[in-house]
Amino acid sequence: MQTSVVVFTCDLRLSDHPPLRAALHGGGRVVPLFVRDPAVDRAGFAAPNRLAFLADCLRDLDARLRERGGRLVLREGDTVTEVCRVAAEADADEVHMAGDASGFAHGRERRLRRALEADGRRLYVHETVSTAVAPGAVTPASSDHFAVFTPYYRCWSAQGTRDVLDAPRAITVPEEVGSAPLPERAGVRGVSPGLCSGGETEGRRLLTAWLRAGVDAYEERHDDLAGDATSRLSPHLHFGTLSPVEVVHRARRAGGAGAEAFVRQVAWRDFNRQVLAARPDAAAQDYRTQRDRWRRGKEAEADTEAWREGRTGYPVVDAAMRQLRHEGWMHNRARLLAASFLSKTLYVDWRVGARHFLDLLVDGDVANNQLNWQWMAGTGTDTRPYRVLNPVTQGKRYDPDGTYVRRWVAELADVAGAAAHEPWKLPAPVRSATGYPEPVVSLAEGLDRFKQARGRL
Ligand code: FAD
Repeated sequence: MQTSVVVFTCDLRLSDHPPLRAALHGGGRVVPLFVRDPAVDRAGFAAPNRLAFLADCLRDLDARLRERGGRLVLREGDTVTEVCRVAAEADADEVHMAGDASGFAHGRERRLRRALEADGRRLYVHETVSTAVAPGAVTPASSDHFAVFTPYYRCWSAQGTRDVLDAPRAITVPEEVGSAPLPERAGVRGVSPGLCSGGETEGRRLLTAWLRAGVDAYEERHDDLAGDATSRLSPHLHFGTLSPVEVVHRARRAGGAGAEAFVRQVAWRDFNRQVLAARPDAAAQDYRTQRDRWRRGKEAEADTEAWREGRTGYPVVDAAMRQLRHEGWMHNRARLLAASFLSKTLYVDWRVGARHFLDLLVDGDVANNQLNWQWMAGTGTDTRPYRVLNPVTQGKRYDPDGTYVRRWVAELADVAGAAAHEPWKLPAPVRSATGYPEPVVSLAEGLDRFKQARGRL
C-alpha cells in the first residue's frame, strides 16, 4: 500500500487542501505531519500570540483528523531532517506540501527536495493552498511580478480560481509513527488578554457568520474604526485554517458590492505574496529606496517607545497601539495611521515598526506586514510615496464621535464626541486631570522634517 507524508505549514486545515487530497488519491496511508522548527522561530515566527493561536490550530487539526480515523504527528527539530526521518519510519514514497512565498520557505523547499531525492523519495509542492492565485501565475509583459495593484487585480480576477476541495472522509495513519505531545495554549506566556481563538473549526464558523451578516456592508463600513466591521479572518488566512480559494468562492457566491470589495482585499494578500516571491529581499530591504536617513539616537528611541506604548499624545494612534497590545490584532485603518505616524511623522525606520507589529500581531505575516509597512513608508509599491496621514483629520473621519478612542484610551473615556481626537483643545485643568500625554511632536514639525528628509521642501 502506498504511503505519503503531508507536511502542514501555513495550511492548518482539512478542507480545500490540495496536498492532502493528492496524498489520498491512491487510497493509501498518510502521515499528517507538522514540524515545530526552531529555525522558523528564529526567522521571526515565535511571538507569544502566534504560538498560542498555533496551539489552538494544531489541537483542532488533530481533533478533525481523529474524527476521520487519523491523528496529527508532531515533531520538533529541523524540518528537512524530521520530514526525512518520518518518511523513512513510515516507508513513504512521496511527500506533499504547500508552496510558500518567502525566501525562507523557498530555501527550505530546495533543501527538502534534495534530501528526499537522495533517499529515493519525491517531493510534490502544491500551489493555491496559501493563495487564491499562485505567485507568478499572472505577470505583466515586461516583469516577473506586478508592482502596482490595480493591473494585478484585473489579471488576478481574469485568472479565476480552481474548484474548492472537500475535506477527506477517512484517513489512515501508519501506527508505527509516533508524535511529540501537542502544545497547549495555556502553556504560552505573554499572550495578549484579548487574543482570539484559533483552529479550522473556529475559522469556518467565523467565515459563515461573516458571509451571513457582515460582508454586505463591507464596502461602506470597512474603514469605520469603532464599528469593527471587517471580517477579522486575517489570522485564519495567515495560519491557513481557512483556504483563500474557498473564501473567494464563498464570498462571490454570497454576491453583492460588499462581497466584491472584500474579495479585492483578499487579492491584496496575493499581490503582496507575488511581490515577495519575486523580491525576497523586500522582507528586510527597501523595495524602492528613497535613500532615507532615518532618525536614530535617544530622542528617536524615546519617540518610538511612546509609539509602542500608545502614549504619543495622538489619540487615534495611541488607541491603535493599545488595541494591538490588548488583542494582538489591529484594524486596517488603524494600522495605516500607526505606520504613517512612525515612519513619516516621527521619521523612524519602517523596519522598527514592522518588528514591533510582528512581535504582537496574531496575523503577523512577512509578506503582508513588511510590504504594507513599506507601502505606508513610501519605500514600497504605493504610487504616492509622499502621502502622510494626518491622525487628527483621519481620526475624525473614521471615528467621528471618538468611540474607538474612548474604547482603548482610558484617560479619555470621559471626553465626549470628536473632542477626544484633540485633547490639547480641552481646558487646561480638564486636560491635566485626564493624565493623557502631550503630543510628542507637532504635526507641522513632523511634516516639515519628513519633507526635508525626502528632499521635498
Ligand atoms: P478584511 O478587511 O476583512 O480583509 C479580508 C482579508 O483580506 C484579510 O483577512 C487579509 O487577509 C486581506 N487583506 C485585507 N487588507 C489587506 C492589505 N492591506 N494587504 C494585504 N492583505 C489584506 N495583514 C496580515 O494579514 N498580516 C500582517 O502582518 C499585516 N500587517 C499589516 C501592517 C500594516 C502597516 C498595514 C497597513 C496592514 C497590514 N496588514 C496585515 C493588512 C491588513 O491590515 C489586515 O490584513 C487586516 O486589517 C486584517 O483584518 P480583517 O481580516 O478584518 O480584514
